[in-house]
Parts: sequence; C-alpha cells; structure tokens
Amino acid sequence: AFITFEGIDGSGKSTQLKRLAEALKGSGHNVVVTREPGGSEGAEEIRSLVLEGATDRWSAETEILLFTAARRDHMERTILPALEAGKIVLCDRFADSTRMYQGLSRGDLRDLVDQLHDLMIGREPDLTVLIDMDPATGLARAKGRQTSEERFEDFGQELQNKMRAGFLDLAREFADRYRIIDGDQSMDDVAADVLKSVLDYLND
Ligand code: C5P
Repeated sequence: AFITFEGIDGSGKSTQLKRLAEALKGSGHNVVVTREPGGSEGAEEIRSLVLEGATDRWSAETEILLFTAARRDHMERTILPALEAGKIVLCDRFADSTRMYQGLSRGDLRDLVDQLHDLMIGREPDLTVLIDMDPATGLARAKGRQTSEERFEDFGQELQNKMRAGFLDLAREFADRYRIIDGDQSMDDVAADVLKSVLDYLND
C-alpha cells in the first residue's frame, strides 16, 4: 500500500508519520518511511536545489519541473521497488503538496502540475492522510522550529490559510483516497485517529 501524509506547515504530519510507522512495524508490517521532496539519492540533491536559496531562485514553472524530476527518481528507485516487494510505503508529502505549493501559491499552475504528473508519474497514492488543523497554530509551530533548510518561513498567515483551504478542497476532489484527521487534538488522539483510519483501509 502507498500511503501519503499531507498538511500545512506545522501540522505535525512528520511526527504522526513516524508514530504510525512504529505502530505498524510493531504489529509485524514491513514499512518503508520516505519523504518529498527527496526520498532517493538524486531526489535529495534536487531537494537542496529547491528548498535552499531565495524563493525566486527558480521560476514557478522551473520549480515544478524540478519537483517532478525529483518525484520521478523517487518513484523509480524507492517507492515502486518497495511496493513491488509488498511493503507499506509511508511518504511525507507527495504530488498533492506540489498541487498546493507550486500549483496554487505562486500562481494558477495546477494544470501544469497535473499534466506533468500524468506524463511522468502516472500514479496517485492508495490512501492520503490529511492532518487538518487551525492554520495559525500550525504557523506558530512551524516558526518555532525553523530550520535553515526551510525557505518558506516567510509564509504569512494568509498563505497558510489558503493552503489549509486548498488541502480541504483536494480532499473533496480525491475523496476516495483522502482521510481527514482533526489535527487540533492532542498528539496522542491524532495518532490514534491516524492509526484507526489506516488499519481500516489495510483490513478492508
Ligand atoms: O514537509 P515539510 O513541511 O518539512 O516541507 C519542507 C518545506 O518545503 C515546507 O516549508 C513546505 O512548505 C515546502 N514545500 C514546498 N513545496 C512542496 C513540498 C514542500 O514548497 N512541494
């Protein structure tokens, strides 16, 4: 199964993904944890090209090409081999993040993202866990843990609100594969809801 985690900055999805991985491993599943942008040697190199430096280092279109190139390498070398070996792949962000961050935030480029996706990736996750939460809380958290790698710390409240609404729209668009989790609960409650959604899917 190919399971992705999505959400706004500071939504706690990376922490939740790790907790889910431990829980699944504990019950005997074979789990591969990966992330985007990155997840393979070449894609991690592209990650530093796109996440370091000024926000306008690349045009929005070039950035979409770089994200798609990274995703293609990640698919070929990490995700597809693991799925073929029967493993559960848990991926921190995937194409939906590009649909949001590159497709929405720097102009109206969603069509370009989708066209390149159809051409070069051609596959959606089986299940997507959206950690949905109050954008102001997420922003405060993201600012509190700022790393040098993150160039999006200048994300304002307005953009954070837009991303939250955008992810909820995507959840409606891809309703079959989306599970919306209330991220405003305690971490333990979020983890329990995530585990339940994923087990329901896996046991179905
Ligand atoms: O997953 P994480 O939140 O650590 O992502 C690192 C940064 O890269 C975030 O600030 C996110 O906004 C940004 N990003 C992006 N476009 C993507 C994926 C991530 O701008 N497609």
